[in-house]
Amino acid sequence: MICLGIESTAHTFGCGIVDEKGRIYANIKNSYTTEKGGIHPTEAKIHHENAKDNVVEDALKAAKLRLDEVDLISFSHGPGLPPCLLVGMRKAKELARKINASLAGVNHCISHLEIGRLLTKAKDPVLLYPSGANTQIIAYEAGKYRIFGETLDNGVGNFIDAFARHAGLGFPGGPKIERLASEGKNYIELPYVVKGMDVSFGGLLTNLKQKYDSGKYKVEDLAFSMQETVFAMLVEVSERAMAHTGKKELLLGGGVACNKRLQEMCRTMCEERNAKFFVPEKEFLADNGAMIAWQGILQRKLATKGYDSIDIGPYERTDDVEVNWR
Ligand code: AMP
Ligand code: MG
Repeated sequence: MICLGIESTAHTFGCGIVDEKGRIYANIKNSYTTEKGGIHPTEAKIHHENAKDNVVEDALKAAKLRLDEVDLISFSHGPGLPPCLLVGMRKAKELARKINASLAGVNHCISHLEIGRLLTKAKDPVLLYPSGANTQIIAYEAGKYRIFGETLDNGVGNFIDAFARHAGLGFPGGPKIERLASEGKNYIELPYVVKGMDVSFGGLLTNLKQKYDSGKYKVEDLAFSMQETVFAMLVEVSERAMAHTGKKELLLGGGVACNKRLQEMCRTMCEERNAKFFVPEKEFLADNGAMIAWQGILQRKLATKGYDSIDIGPYERTDDVEVNWR
């Protein structure tokens, strides 16, 4: 069985093709970026409209498959930006109708976790999922992927991007901040906000902007201190989730997980508590179509040809989904 999956929750339009053994035939993406401002939903939607046909065509070419050799179509059902989600769903419906295939809408956050399990062989991990819009600590418990901790306001990626935007760095800011941080040497104290199992970045953002505007600090030092502070917050709640659930594996997923310093801090924490640390390749950490295709395979029972009954779920939560595939 071959599934073609479409990702379009935010800045990336992606198409992946995967079979039921987890073999990845193609994973093509085209992401929206800016020189200066942040992600603008309407512009991202236009980007996806322009990119969608070529991305799907390139994926089929890379997989050396014709569309009619695909058995199943899946797409990111949510959570995400509604204008972007709609582009992906409509493209998925168009493809499914063309070949009379079943269609499944799948949860984006869970797809990050399942592609990580597939690629790293982690069995029952706690997932630290820091991305643009989402920041969650997720683990399987009693039939669902439960959220053990999450952000109370911004996703950590959006927070990093907002600071980068303030400093005139463009979108996405994460990689630029990581480069600057590697040149920072002085640690500047910043608010460290962990509330129970949750984290919050709103106050930290205001504080950072004020420090930047004061002109008293080097942006490299601010970037360095910001990374040290927010990654420590994320590692603290991940460790607590591992202690609480008794799980011995930590898996990373999501765009911010590309950051080498975050990976290093997670690895150290796992070594100290005798746990295993897993991180998939960068291509599969950030948003991608392959993870949506693989989730489509896992949830193929959900797929239907009643296309009109399928809609997007911009606010769907990880723990809304019944996990009946593991
Ligand atoms: P996603 O929504 O999962 O595709 O992740 C996108 C987010 O990841 C954006 O907010 C990026 O700024 C962030 N990001 C990408 N690479 C890095 C990096 N090396 N360090 C920190 N954040 C990053
Ligand atoms: Mg994501």
